[in-house]
Amino acid sequence: MSDDQKQSILLVDADPVNQASVRDVLKDLDVNVVVTESTREVSELVILYDFALILLAVDPSNPEAFATAVALDNNEKTWYVPIIFQAESRYVSELLEQGYASGGVDFLHKPVKPAILLAKVKVFLELDARQRQLAFATATIQKQNLKLEERAIRDSLTGLYNHNYLLEQLARAVSYARRYNSPLSVFLLDLDFFKDVNDSCGHPFGDFVLKEFARRVEDSIRESDIFGRYGGEEFLVILPNIDRKQAEVVAEKIRKKVAATIFAKDSYERYVRVSIGAYSGFGEETDSSGVIMDYVDNALYQAKAEGRNRVCHYQTPRGGRGGDDHICDVIGSTQQNHLNATIEKARAMTLASFEAMVHAQTREYEIFADRNTFFINVLDELAKKLNLPDQLIHSFRRAIKLHDLFRCYIHDSSVKTEGPLNEEQEEMLFDQPLMLRELTTMFDFFASERIILYSHHEHYDGTGYPDGLKGNEIPMAARIFTLVDSFVAMVTPAAEKKGKSREEVEEELRRCSGTQFDPFLVDMLMTTLENYDFFSKEEDD
Ligand code: GH3
Ligand code: MG
Ligand code: MG
Repeated sequence: MSDDQKQSILLVDADPVNQASVRDVLKDLDVNVVVTESTREVSELVILYDFALILLAVDPSNPEAFATAVALDNNEKTWYVPIIFQAESRYVSELLEQGYASGGVDFLHKPVKPAILLAKVKVFLELDARQRQLAFATATIQKQNLKLEERAIRDSLTGLYNHNYLLEQLARAVSYARRYNSPLSVFLLDLDFFKDVNDSCGHPFGDFVLKEFARRVEDSIRESDIFGRYGGEEFLVILPNIDRKQAEVVAEKIRKKVAATIFAKDSYERYVRVSIGAYSGFGEETDSSGVIMDYVDNALYQAKAEGRNRVCHYQTPRGGRGGDDHICDVIGSTQQNHLNATIEKARAMTLASFEAMVHAQTREYEIFADRNTFFINVLDELAKKLNLPDQLIHSFRRAIKLHDLFRCYIHDSSVKTEGPLNEEQEEMLFDQPLMLRELTTMFDFFASERIILYSHHEHYDGTGYPDGLKGNEIPMAARIFTLVDSFVAMVTPAAEKKGKSREEVEEELRRCSGTQFDPFLVDMLMTTLENYDFFSKEEDD
């Protein structure tokens, strides 16, 4: 055992004969024996050594030994070190009481009886060794616990905070913003076309991209921001005390930093882009963490639909938050705008050719024409009320067209049938959202329409399909679509059926508010109906 690992014993005794005999008895033990003649040196020695045992000589003419024992007992570093007093046999009985009162654990008689000294010292050395092992084990467990706690909140690939920890922190950040009336911003980031990075360069390179991406984002934010991996190639940044204007700058900084230089490892090289859905709230009006996640998710969808590599900032339409009028502000590069114009043309041409094909195969499209115009009128009015951006309105228009064309294309006779649908028609109607998703996946520039069409059979109370989404889980655009679509069906039903009157429509909307439809949107539509007379045509007839 090296000297610094050895246990140490302190002997405090001015008597050289006793010093020599104690040394002699302990010489075969593997211990350091530190000797001092004076109690005055004890306070310094206990700083230098971690003693396992202190042997303290005492006699009636030297009461300082008791004062030293009391001081050791009150010292944070030595209170647990056992003290054995040594006194001449004739004094032991008179000193015994004061000795124990001063913190001593035992008395030894002088002159020393080797066998007794050795036996007692061995017991206390053994005790000390056990204590040290215990302390070491406790420290190790504490360290491991810390590591485990840290691991429980970290993502193993990137070392960033994980999904659960992020959600906990988001809830905290919301309470903080509400309590201290401060701003809060949140970003949901999703790498663009990441599947293709994996497919073309392999998973290890994909993993490298995720790590390097994390590093670039960390370089673009403050230490007080909370950044983590939300899942897969989605990341979340929580920015306390950052308002919308500052958030726009930070999000743009992240986007540019990611796109600026190529990601390279081994023989692979790839430019990587990121789309960001952003939310900013303030003080008491800050939304709950669940609603914020909905908002950033919707904004991210929007950023993807607008062409990716951009930031889309969610602005809740529920009013009163100041700032911009739009649900989404899109900040994008010039190149992206050129690309958008091209995609816009491609969409229009694809729709036109699909329309021509449907016309050539069926005459039924005519019956949708009026309905289609009516849908667009209602939507325009509602969109004004909700301050929807033009891009979203265009998506709605394309969605309704695709929806109706597709119905004709699959010979949806159900639209003309009176009474309940037969089994085959039911099945066809049920499959519609899935088939429409397939169709729009084939034309990938219909991503935004796909979101609307895929979820337009969901019900606000969670009883719809295909996914049984509930409330804000259903994309806002799909909730709007469902409401307007149903409203139009009530006023201008297919075939020979008679449309409902204003009173009947209002009653039906109220009845389904909160179950099939978003109650907020129903209120908005009701207000829209008060100001715009959609019924005059029918009432004139
Ligand atoms: P978009 O621009 O619409 O976001 O397209 P995308 O390809 O990024 O989107 P998608 O969600 O289809 O693909 C995400 C991919 O991320 C699929 C999955 O294999 C990959 N991914 C998720 N987690 C990891 C991971 O830990 N390592 C690697 N290498 N890939 C991952
Ligand atoms: Mg994703
Ligand atoms: Mg992605």
